[in-house]
Amino acid sequence: MNIEKAEQLGLCFGVRRAVELLKESVTRYGEIETLGPLAHNRMLVEGLAELGVRPVHDLSEVRGRVLAVTTHGISPAGLSEIAALDIAVIDTTCPIVRKAQKTARELVEADFDVLIFGEAEHSEVRGLLGYAAGRGVAALDTGQVEDWTASSSRLGVISQTTQTQSAFAGFAGRLVTKVGHRVKEIRIVNTLCQVTRRQQEAAVRLARRSELMLVIGGSSSANARHLVEICAPLVETHLVETVEDVDTSWFPGKQNVGVTAGASTPDEAVEALIARLMSL
Ligand code: SF4
Repeated sequence: MNIEKAEQLGLCFGVRRAVELLKESVTRYGEIETLGPLAHNRMLVEGLAELGVRPVHDLSEVRGRVLAVTTHGISPAGLSEIAALDIAVIDTTCPIVRKAQKTARELVEADFDVLIFGEAEHSEVRGLLGYAAGRGVAALDTGQVEDWTASSSRLGVISQTTQTQSAFAGFAGRLVTKVGHRVKEIRIVNTLCQVTRRQQEAAVRLARRSELMLVIGGSSSANARHLVEICAPLVETHLVETVEDVDTSWFPGKQNVGVTAGASTPDEAVEALIARLMSL
């Protein structure tokens, strides 16, 4: 069996930067709480918990004196609520997410309504909606926003950073076809994360020459799920959270096995998967 890793995979610079910031800060402050898990990966979160970095679900659960905002960012209203608690804040918002937040704000300032292509319940998207200051809506399907777009004369369209390029392009194209005749101006801004895009492209190249693809990442990680979505039409693909999820029945008759990993998957998890596959 040949095992090949995608040319680009795993922990992105945004999550690495956040982990480093938290490691430095926990040495200085002792315990730190994060508003939600730092990233959607259990192994990463458990590793940080051992150092004293503990996630809380919401502000009502905060007990400590230092709170970290995660890579997904937070709305301006959320930041104000934290400020009112009179505790220290460590902001690990990824610079790429910050750029998307700035774009949402600038669109509103230029008198656009803001349509966000993304999962409405995802923490990054909730933050982006906050920057759209009451003039935003999130959707994955143009059908969901037909009524909403009917009252817009200027429409700005951005994306959750980890969506795929082809899905965003398809969404924007359908939107222009459906509402272009009645909206005065549509401004589409590419807020996709290019790190994620490069990982997705590398995964597709590898899937094309593999007989089986394994994606290692959290089941609640948006970008790990997108890697599965883009590889699955090309070849049999499975998402595994840890090596324990590997099922030996997948391998008979498979010679070329490709491996890729979500942007919040720690290097140790990738290496553990490779070691497990080698042992087969
Ligand atoms: S996937 Fe991209 S946007 Fe998300 S944290 Fe990593 S670098 Fe930032």
